[in-house]
Amino acid sequence: MLHKIYDSLLTLVYPQACQSCEKSVENSADGVACNSCWKQTRIFSGAETLCHKCGAFLYEKPSDYQTFCHQCDEHFYDMARAVGIYEDALSACVLNLKREPFVAQKLKKLFISTFADSPFQDATRIIPVPLSKKRFLERGFNQAEVLADTLAKETKIIVDKQSLVRKIHSPIHRAAMDRKAREMSVKNAFEVKRPRLVENKNILLIDDVFTSGATASFCAKVLKEKGADKVYVLTVARTV
Ligand SMILES: [Zn+2]
Ligand SMILES: [Zn+2]
Repeated sequence: MLHKIYDSLLTLVYPQACQSCEKSVENSADGVACNSCWKQTRIFSGAETLCHKCGAFLYEKPSDYQTFCHQCDEHFYDMARAVGIYEDALSACVLNLKREPFVAQKLKKLFISTFADSPFQDATRIIPVPLSKKRFLERGFNQAEVLADTLAKETKIIVDKQSLVRKIHSPIHRAAMDRKAREMSVKNAFEVKRPRLVENKNILLIDDVFTSGATASFCAKVLKEKGADKVYVLTVARTV
């Protein structure tokens, strides 16, 4: 309902400036980025080779074999996929999702089709990566929940926003933080509150962006410790 009102308000104020290049966005379905920014954003089509486990972009051409980047060998999730690379239109979408709880038509379609083409079809629960209480209160919403709701509406998979919680408020990741520092900041941050709800479930974790994979990995670790079977990860974008 709120989204509908928001959408019509948004249409009223169009054209608005592209949040990536500042030219105008002609079509409200494109959201916060203009058509040419969308065109230059690398969206995964299935024709490239991604790391079979974490979904990292490896080569332009498809491969006949399952290929791994090996950076993710120790990660606890089973597989992760993203709509595309964190750049241009997709980075604008991710940044905007931290300000406005709204998913424009174009991103919605891409997110749903990335799920449909993913090997995650046996997922039985959707769990958005939680924010700490402090961050949730500051922002007023969790962008991962907004994405989870969008996908759940389409797939009819149940969303569970209660079982996984973030008990430690980690500082916002800074560009200067190296891999190890990022990992330390989320290592003990997550906890499963309702183990019975995740037991024997195949969990699809949802987040806006996949960076080092540490957040998803530590979420997967606690979920598996409480009996979750598979843990998959779906994000809007991932860094290269
Ligand atoms: Zn643009
Ligand atoms: Zn990998």
